[in-house]
Amino acid sequence: MDSSSSSSSFDRFSRRAAVIARHLRDPALPAAASTAAAIEAAPCLRYTPPELSEGPPAFEPRELRRLLDGHGVAERDWLFRAMEESPLFCPRRRGGSGEGRVFVAPDYNQTKEQQREMTMRRIGHLKSRGVFEGWLTAAAGDDEAEMRKLAFLECLGIYDHSLAIKIGVHFFLWGGAIQFFGTKRHHDKWLKDTEDYVVKGCFAMTELGHGSNVRGIETIATYDKSSGEFVINTPCESAQKYWIGGAANHATHTVIFAQLHMDGINQGVHAFIAQIRDVDGNICPNVRIADCGHKTGLNGVDNGRIWFDNIRVPRENLLNSVADVLPDGQYVSSIKDPDQRFAAFLAPLTFGRVNIAVNTVYMSKIGLAIAVRYALTRQAFAITPNGPELLLLDYPSHQRRLVPLLAKACAMSFAANYLKKMYLKRTPESNKAIHIYSSALKAVLTWQNMSTLQECREACGGQGLKTENRIGILKSEYDVQSTFEGDNNVLMQQVSKALLGEYVAAQKRKIPLRGLGLEHINEPCPDIPENLTSSILRSFKFQTDIFCLRERDLLKRYADEVSQYQAKGESKERATLLSYPLAEDLARAFTERTILQTILEAEMALTAGPLKDVLGLMRSMYSLICMEEGASFLRYGYLSIGNAAAVRKEVMALCSKIRPHALAIVSSFGIPDAFLSPIAFDWIDANTWSSPNNELQWSAAAQLYESNGINLFACTK
Ligand SMILES: Cc1cc2nc3c(=O)[nH]c(=O)nc-3n(C[C@H](O)[C@H](O)[C@H](O)COP(=O)(O)OP(=O)(O)OC[C@H]3O[C@@H](n4cnc5c(N)ncnc54)[C@H](O)[C@@H]3O)c2cc1C
Repeated sequence: MDSSSSSSSFDRFSRRAAVIARHLRDPALPAAASTAAAIEAAPCLRYTPPELSEGPPAFEPRELRRLLDGHGVAERDWLFRAMEESPLFCPRRRGGSGEGRVFVAPDYNQTKEQQREMTMRRIGHLKSRGVFEGWLTAAAGDDEAEMRKLAFLECLGIYDHSLAIKIGVHFFLWGGAIQFFGTKRHHDKWLKDTEDYVVKGCFAMTELGHGSNVRGIETIATYDKSSGEFVINTPCESAQKYWIGGAANHATHTVIFAQLHMDGINQGVHAFIAQIRDVDGNICPNVRIADCGHKTGLNGVDNGRIWFDNIRVPRENLLNSVADVLPDGQYVSSIKDPDQRFAAFLAPLTFGRVNIAVNTVYMSKIGLAIAVRYALTRQAFAITPNGPELLLLDYPSHQRRLVPLLAKACAMSFAANYLKKMYLKRTPESNKAIHIYSSALKAVLTWQNMSTLQECREACGGQGLKTENRIGILKSEYDVQSTFEGDNNVLMQQVSKALLGEYVAAQKRKIPLRGLGLEHINEPCPDIPENLTSSILRSFKFQTDIFCLRERDLLKRYADEVSQYQAKGESKERATLLSYPLAEDLARAFTERTILQTILEAEMALTAGPLKDVLGLMRSMYSLICMEEGASFLRYGYLSIGNAAAVRKEVMALCSKIRPHALAIVSSFGIPDAFLSPIAFDWIDANTWSSPNNELQWSAAAQLYESNGINLFACTK
């Protein structure tokens, strides 16, 4: 094609374009008139707050919030306000008209160093507001102080995971180790200073070579009788302490876990206090520290690696509630069995697991509150020609994606509260049960949180990917919950192993099972009706029966399979490993039955009325969605193929029953508006041309502060 022909076709195209444009501009022309009418028929989208479009709630959301939070509603609201009011919590205004709305969230665009310093500055601010008072020094048995602390921790996590973890490591891993493993001399010396942040603590258990297998750690402690000191050494690269929260920048002290070698005998893992930095932040002699580097989330926590080059700590720094070394080098312990001694050293991790289980449900609540509110204001496609577009939440498919997750979040809240209460009332006798429940619930609730957040992210389409809309970033911030404080898969194996132990012991001694809710196994096997009607499917009797049936059958199958392997000559350990598929199904069956019981108890405690009715619907939804998703119900025949289809149908029926309550349910989650995100409110206004570009605004604000000599990122020591 020569240039003249190409220019003539360009001219033809330009002329056509000009004619079309004239048609569109000139209202006198018939074609233009029809175009104008079409434009009028589809006016620009307007945002209607869901509170207006949805009508009044059938129940009082504050009442459900009181049940779901379980305690400390006023304290929580106080702390939320304290965070909203401080510029350190990055308030940002969104909205182009009127006043807009203010949201608070960390600035995840900051470098990891900046995020770490901001975390410390926020801690400094919270300390000045008295948030941490009594966290380590309140009198034993002061349940009120304990509950307030737990409520505060939940609020801090709702703002930012790094903030909650940095505080958690200092107070509950370092401080907890001193409380649990230490004795009066350690309590007197360290607890008040820890509460006041005079010392900043970390917890050095994990090594490069050993994470889940704590017993295999390679750091060595020996006792030097002549000086009355322990000598702690990192003998090889795989023994370097790894992932230690607080170690990279801020911690002044650490608890070191090491194998205690006494006179050629390895007495097992013990815990020692050591100083790693001086008051000016300089690393102590014979200690080397490196950064773990940038992570996919949680960059406000300075995770570090530590090597100990024969550091010396006084004999008194052995945390000696479980075992001690006398000045003459004699090793003494009230717990003779090394297995039990080791278990006692893991006790502080229990609180971490309780806290993670509780905290993770709130992340699901944030995701769900945002996704449901968005689905109540966002439309997509019309299903009739020229008809209005449908609200996302009016699509059965969207209901199926979000409504069961609402039921799971509610059910799991009750389970988390149950665990929290059990932990507060702990006795030496209940420690084992708490270990099992906390392991099971930590694993199942954190896994559920990740899939809930993913579904919520997708339910918000592209908006779900914007950092300011929180859900996407929450996924990467909270992913680690399935790994730290006990890897989920390892924890679930421990749960099934413990259940097996209870079962085998009861069989051997010919006594009924007691504890862990397993008493139902002593009763006759429940009967499951052949044809599951809607009313049977919604009855709590059927739901508990089928959950119990699954648990007892799996426990028996697991025990039988393990003994069959043993009969073929396998060791007990290998037999349990080979029966892993059954172990996995069993641990889930135990956990889901426990969760069902807690929501059922909450429902039964209510007087008749709309709230009880809605909770009943949610309990049914929780039960049925577990049946629909849990392959074991079909795999082992607890549900026939026909009944599995009936369950699926009932899930859909429940979706449309619960749909009208969706807004009230997410309101009852108690997440303040400022901790949600722009798409949970007027997302059109938040995105107008005149709405501030907040990332630019924030960095401009930071520059302004700095030009006035204020370093926003400077850490208060
Ligand atoms: C951000 C972050 C912060 C942390 N903070 C701290 C801290 O402050 N202090 C501290 O001491 N530690 C900390 N940790 C370490 C954490 O506790 C460990 O990462 C965790 O215990 C898992 O150990 P690992 O990473 O070595 O994984 P591994 O134990 O190597 O596990 C890897 C995989 O193998 C599987 N696996 C392991 N054992 C078995 C088994 N017996 N059977 C079947 N499968 C198995 C696991 O399920 C997992 O999928 C932190 C970790 C992270 C990521």
